[in-house]
Amino acid sequence: MAVNAYIVLPCYNEEEVLPETSRQLLELFVQMKKDALINEESRIVFVDDGSRDKTWELISLYSSEHEQICGIKLAKNAGHQNALLAGLMTVKDACDCAISIDADLQDDIAAIPEMIKKFINGCDVVYGVRSKRDTDTFFKRNTAMGFYKAMSVMGVNTIPNHADFRLMSRRALNSFSEFTEVNLFLRGMVPLVGYKSDKVYYERKERFAGESKYPLKKMLSFAFDGITSFSVTPIRLITALGAIVCVFCVAAAVYALVQKLLSHTSAGWASLMISIWFLGGVQLLSIGLIGEYIGKIYKEVKRRPRYIIEEYKK
Ligand code: UDP
Ligand code: MG
Repeated sequence: MAVNAYIVLPCYNEEEVLPETSRQLLELFVQMKKDALINEESRIVFVDDGSRDKTWELISLYSSEHEQICGIKLAKNAGHQNALLAGLMTVKDACDCAISIDADLQDDIAAIPEMIKKFINGCDVVYGVRSKRDTDTFFKRNTAMGFYKAMSVMGVNTIPNHADFRLMSRRALNSFSEFTEVNLFLRGMVPLVGYKSDKVYYERKERFAGESKYPLKKMLSFAFDGITSFSVTPIRLITALGAIVCVFCVAAAVYALVQKLLSHTSAGWASLMISIWFLGGVQLLSIGLIGEYIGKIYKEVKRRPRYIIEEYKK
């Protein structure tokens, strides 16, 4: 039985990769139709995340040339996670299942037929998981590993080495639409939906054109968002740190009193300065971290739209 599958790709300044990406996907569509995996209603949906280059012009052109290609234009740059959500939520009622993948096709599209087969066999969510990380730099590989470790220590259930290459059924997407949070970390949220899931393994390639839209700064802030959106462990760590510092201070106070009673008093300048600086530092750190959570609460209670669609070319 051929299914109605939508492939959703967020694109931010991707004019260099779009011609090749659309060519490869159209080819894949021809093959999958031949194999009776997908039907004629299936679509490739490019979401333009407020690009400043020719990305939207290209998407418009392709969507007029090919019936299978659609385009969604966001009113402004909303970020990868929001753009992806915009795409998925727009197509969720039109498809049987939607597959999300980056526009640079670093994730292997050859895994898509496998994902669809697993969907046909009754899975609602199929995660694309990288079998190895040797195309990454030493730095990225190790920071990523540390990140997944830290997440699991803090009790967040993520699939290691899975990013945003995944298939979700219409049912899973509809359940997912009930998650109304504004701070998005999709790969942490999807497992919360439940239903039957499975994994497909693939090897991630290098970007074939253009450059990464995730510089180190964005990557770190994404990791930090992931942790603070899902775990209150950092707050608990601070409480523990506070307790330890208190015990330490009591010991120091006892020591100081004893010295005083024994008339060993000296200027005391060094110890005073050290403790002021140390405690000041700890307090600032704590307030900063608590502020991070309050900032999140602030964003959530405002319930601002997570993306705004300007145009939808079907
Ligand atoms: N992207 C987006 N909005 C942004 C940044 C990135 O839609 O603000 C898209 C980008 O076009 C690509 C995907 O997110 O399709 C992943 O970005 P990239 O390949 O640059 O990240 P990396 O693979 O280097 O982690
Ligand atoms: Mg990439």
